[in-house]
Amino acid sequence: MFHIARVRLTLWYTAIISVVMIMMSAIIYENTISAIQRNYVAIEERINNMQDTGLNNGPVRRALVQNPQLLKEQYEAVRDIILLRIILVNSGVIVCVAILSYIFAGRTLEPIEASHAAQKRFVSDASHELRTPLTSLMLSIEVALRSKKLSLARARDILKSNYEDLHNLHNLIEQLLALASTSKNIKKEFVKIAVKDSLSKAIKHTKPLAKEKNITIEKAMTESFTKGNETMLYDTFVILLDNAIKYTPEKGTIRTTMTQSRTKVRVAIQDTGIGIPKDDIPHIFDRFYRVDTARTSGQKQGFGIGLSLAQKIVNLHDGSIAVESKQGHGSTFTVTLPRC
Ligand code: ADP
Repeated sequence: MFHIARVRLTLWYTAIISVVMIMMSAIIYENTISAIQRNYVAIEERINNMQDTGLNNGPVRRALVQNPQLLKEQYEAVRDIILLRIILVNSGVIVCVAILSYIFAGRTLEPIEASHAAQKRFVSDASHELRTPLTSLMLSIEVALRSKKLSLARARDILKSNYEDLHNLHNLIEQLLALASTSKNIKKEFVKIAVKDSLSKAIKHTKPLAKEKNITIEKAMTESFTKGNETMLYDTFVILLDNAIKYTPEKGTIRTTMTQSRTKVRVAIQDTGIGIPKDDIPHIFDRFYRVDTARTSGQKQGFGIGLSLAQKIVNLHDGSIAVESKQGHGSTFTVTLPRC
């Protein structure tokens, strides 16, 4: 599809440039030929005058006077040479234009092709992620329906597990929608917000989860402002805190620290959890990337979307997100935002 588009674009570029060039060449040719023609007419007149006055000294003049046809032949020869050169130069330029057009058409289409490929990958990954829990749901319902001696207690268990699967699916769809709707247009609606407020709300929201695992959340905050969307920043902090709780064993500690410089505000979320293997660190912000799920078996598994969403939000705020982690010792995620 992109190859056809590239060829089409090449043809259009070449056609437009060729038409302009041929038109310009035609004008230059016309002007040159009429100038030469005027010159020859003047020479012809002078020769005729020489014939009349009997002045025909000099070999060239004599030859011209004796053979007036020679002048016309000369004029036609010059005209043919100019025409041939114009045709040759134009053909050469058209070939070059076609080659350059092909290269530039490729460059023009590159970002569109990349975004199309990313979209295709996203749709295929998302469908895969949706298919797995849906298949498990269908299977469990099918088995329950076939069972002739299904007790009420068993039916309740199945319904509970189905509810959990549906809840996870709902979360996945919410995250996919958030990922898809985080567009640059939202930047127009950015306002001055207190980073402290978003972070405090996120801590409040995740505290019950931390309590379930006896995890302590410590906080050290400053009064800093950034320009952005409060809900989005809140979502980012929830994602980071949620992960910190998810990947920290019972009785651990999560430290949230806010610091600021003249132009930046930094929020660090440090946990005493399982850490991230060195080889996985470069990939954890990729969509649907999950570090070996066996290491967190028995826990609710995520879909590998949280960090990519967090990174997208932070980038939209002209900030950055970084991670430092040591396996078995914990991780620190640092969000840096511009101050305002
Ligand atoms: P998930 O929903 O699977 O947690 P994320 O995109 O939020 O997806 O994270 C990607 C992966 O990064 C996770 O599968 C997890 O293994 C790893 N990860 C993220 N945060 C932490 C953390 N604080 N400690 C250890 N591992 C983490």
